[in-house]
Amino acid sequence: MKTHIQTRREFLRTSTLAAASLPFVSAMSARAQTAAPAKKLGFALAGLGSLSTHQIAPALQKTNFCRLAGIITGHPAKAAQWKAQYNIPDKNIYDYDSMEKMADNPDIDVVYVVTPNGLHADHTIKAARAGKHVLCEKPMEVSPERCQQMIDACRAANRLLAVGYRLHFDPNHLECVRLAREKVLGSVNLIEAEYGFRIGDPTQWRLNRALSGGGPLMDVGIYALQAARYLSGEEPVSVSAVATNNDPAKFKDIEESISWQLKFPGGALASCNCTYNFNGLDRFRAFADRGWFEMAPAYGYGGLQGRRSDGKWAAFPPMDQFAAEMDDFAQCILNGQPTKVPGEEGLRDLKIMMAIYEAARTGKTISFT
Ligand code: NAD
Repeated sequence: MKTHIQTRREFLRTSTLAAASLPFVSAMSARAQTAAPAKKLGFALAGLGSLSTHQIAPALQKTNFCRLAGIITGHPAKAAQWKAQYNIPDKNIYDYDSMEKMADNPDIDVVYVVTPNGLHADHTIKAARAGKHVLCEKPMEVSPERCQQMIDACRAANRLLAVGYRLHFDPNHLECVRLAREKVLGSVNLIEAEYGFRIGDPTQWRLNRALSGGGPLMDVGIYALQAARYLSGEEPVSVSAVATNNDPAKFKDIEESISWQLKFPGGALASCNCTYNFNGLDRFRAFADRGWFEMAPAYGYGGLQGRRSDGKWAAFPPMDQFAAEMDDFAQCILNGQPTKVPGEEGLRDLKIMMAIYEAARTGKTISFT
């Protein structure tokens, strides 16, 4: 028998009253927009790499409740470039060693941590100690212990902590969650989810375990894991896994590809794959009693495509996932509400990913009891 599945009324109610303690799927709906505040919250981006440059900074310009107020970077040349491009005053420019000084800067309300995974705890804890709320990119860190330290630091500073799970704000994914929760095609019995790409530059931090925490599982497999969790609406009871590495010169201390299976308490199964070795892996499909629904492509910043076996999928207009994610976080802060994507959610994924690695290493099924 399946565990409690929400009715539509419950789904709508909990989506607005989302509390960190609720099953995360119930909270996975768009927050109603309130009137724009007199003062937009000031965001400082920590780490001015690819994601900050190409997605987050442009998305900040589209938000209603946020503004790009500051930057934290180890590169003076980047600081000069961003200062000119986004009109950032010198007093709002920091490096990683001067983050504590943000405590005296009322322009900055939120630090968005966009550095390599293994630095997230350091930067989150510094930001929290400076009295700033923290939005941290996924994966939250490289171990559950570090995730817990981040949660503890933000709690001690009475600051909000959220993880950058942008797909929790994408209407396509929200619709798939609705289809699952309302059993539109019956109960979901099997979820297939996979994401991967062929990675280039072998010197990048993503291939360095100390900074990445692992290979494609930490980077993109986490999206397939998330999909399995929010489509099932349950936490897995066990996991089995197998990993492969056909290029040990390139993948020195991380997996090249990994496949894993999850069993959920209500009886549903999930079969997931991720890779750094080839392109084209970007989809999920949920098989329910009377048909299926899927997204392919499923996990990109746009151009997502849904389908239903009964042909009833209705397309959603394009939107900016990062702008929605940041506006939601700002509204949580402004309204004193919990976030739908708290640190505890990032911690759950880290615990499961560690179990996936253990299952692959030992060849044993790992139970969560
Ligand atoms: P990137 O390599 O392009 O940028 C990383 C930034 O961190 C660079 O500006 C770099 O200078 C800085 N940095 C600071 N200390 C560093 C160190 N010791 N070594 C290397 N770089 C250091 O990476 P990215 O693609 O922007 O990813 C950053 C974070 O965002 C990661 O946690 C990643 O998982 C996450 N991310 C999320 C999404 C998403 O869709 N939500 C997409 C891409 C990346």
